[in-house]
Amino acid sequence: MVEKEVEIVRGHRLDYQLYNYLLQYFSDSELNAIFEAIRRPPSRYYIRVNTLKISPEDLAKKLRERSLDVYFDENLSEALWLPVKGPRKIPTAKKVVLADKRAAESVYMGANLYAPGVIKFEDGIRKGDEVNVIAPNGEVVAFGIAEVDSDNIRNTKSGVAVRTLVSTYELPKIRELPEYELGLFYDQSLPAQWVAHILDPRPNEVIVDMNAAPGGKTSHIIQLSGGKAFVHAFDRSSRKVQDMATILRRLGMEKYCSVEVRDTRYLDVDRPDLVGSVDRVLIDPPCTDMGVRPKLFDVKTMDLVKSLSEYQRQFIRVAWKLLKPGGILVYSTCTLPPLENEDNVAYAESLGFRVIDASVPGASGGLIDKYRNSVIRFYPHVHDTPGFFIAKLMKPS
Ligand code: SAH
Repeated sequence: MVEKEVEIVRGHRLDYQLYNYLLQYFSDSELNAIFEAIRRPPSRYYIRVNTLKISPEDLAKKLRERSLDVYFDENLSEALWLPVKGPRKIPTAKKVVLADKRAAESVYMGANLYAPGVIKFEDGIRKGDEVNVIAPNGEVVAFGIAEVDSDNIRNTKSGVAVRTLVSTYELPKIRELPEYELGLFYDQSLPAQWVAHILDPRPNEVIVDMNAAPGGKTSHIIQLSGGKAFVHAFDRSSRKVQDMATILRRLGMEKYCSVEVRDTRYLDVDRPDLVGSVDRVLIDPPCTDMGVRPKLFDVKTMDLVKSLSEYQRQFIRVAWKLLKPGGILVYSTCTLPPLENEDNVAYAESLGFRVIDASVPGASGGLIDKYRNSVIRFYPHVHDTPGFFIAKLMKPS
């Protein structure tokens, strides 16, 4: 049988078509380094201070009073970071609990294992027993204590199934703090925090966020405009829009934006009032997520890259219609293939958009010569961040 997939590093597979495609841009050893990095979290865990509620200095002080190790980013004043601990050696237990991928990746980072994430509890486990938590690819992600008996796990719908004691990595547990409940900060990676800066919202502007949930970038846009711009935020998923409303309320930002469930590929038809009347548009579309960290295992195919690239272009076409002449489009993804990044910028140019040079400290330029100095790329193996892409464009007046 002919092998259809290549395993780049443990758990990370690409079909041959995608592997050969990426080899046009990265050497084999770069691909190895990229996916090795994807298996690990960045060494810094970033949060964004909600400067509408508190200053970065005051939040850092509060967190330090809770004995947390907090640092200021070198470039973005509202970005604070906490060191991620690990990797640690996991002690061996006699019994194992199998978790689903999502849960296993959280446990890998130090979270407890909750009942809905359990795939299998080995027979004979008693509450209080030492167990290892295993990911679906067989990797041991943590050592902990069972909080239920294997006889009862089927009837347990919620709550902690395994209390994690030692995990491969450990994130600071900042979501349990009162400062989180008070909306004083939002967890957001460093590259994602650059997006709203590149968009550069100004007072009294009308801004559209076409893929807004759960609201990380919407809330940052509101913050940077000092609550003086109005953001029309849209997302196709009604569940995510509900979560987003809760988040915006916690941050105290609900009055500065509207949030609507919409498939924004048709926004020009559904919201004709916005056509030709928007100052800035953000497209942060679904992508192949190949830059997201940490990920223990994943399979990606060329077909998926191609279909998402086509999907992303639909938003770009609509953004062209929404923008006023002179309006700005920012396009960002958390993935690697040029088809979803530089090639989509070239597509935007073919519609009439012009690229505006953008760069940030601690990042690289584009992967294609033409965009070497005009778009922004963060690489997991180079910048100790998730993989990320940002481009800025203008609709000429
Ligand atoms: N900008 C967000 C993250 C967006 S992730 C933040 O910073 O927090 C991409 C989002 O695109 C997902 O929430 C997904 O539901 C949404 N999406 C996918 N297809 C869409 C469509 N056709 N119209 C609008 N939103 C869509």
